[in-house]
Amino acid sequence: MRLRRVGAIAAVATAVVLWWRLRPSSSPPPAPGAEPHGVAGLAAWAPSPPTSPVSRAAAYGWAAPLTAAGLLLGALSRTPPRVHDGVVRFDDARGLGGRMLRWRGFAAATLGHVIIAAGTPGERLLRHELVHVRQAERWGPLFVPLYLAGLVRYGYRQNPFERAAYAAADGPAAA
Ligand SMILES: [Zn+2]
Repeated sequence: MRLRRVGAIAAVATAVVLWWRLRPSSSPPPAPGAEPHGVAGLAAWAPSPPTSPVSRAAAYGWAAPLTAAGLLLGALSRTPPRVHDGVVRFDDARGLGGRMLRWRGFAAATLGHVIIAAGTPGERLLRHELVHVRQAERWGPLFVPLYLAGLVRYGYRQNPFERAAYAAADGPAAA
């Protein structure tokens, strides 16, 4: 009984921390060399899409638990799905999915091979979300705890997974 109460308190505390951290606000970037090597590497890594049929099948299978959650959320978005770029998109999401996005001020969210968008995503937003698709293909179910750990530690915008997605969406700096 006591254990269940501790579990419930931990779940509520986790939800509150995530709710507080999951905001599309900007915080200053870390000073060069001020963060662990692996974190900086993760923030600079936008994995490439799988090319062979075997690696593609492996990527879809590995990311399938996330995709299943995305399809469930998409089904609650009361908007028809369409397949584009190898992902299932729910544009102009309403229902639970759309409300969750708008509450927190997000334009879109990606779960595995599913992109749920508040409106019709433009090219830059799609480039950003497709990086999350590639991250999910590489990390599979591990992506969720890793992403949440990054969120709690660094906040939304400085989460290394987000920094990689923003960098890829913005493209290489003009030289
Ligand atoms: Zn993102």
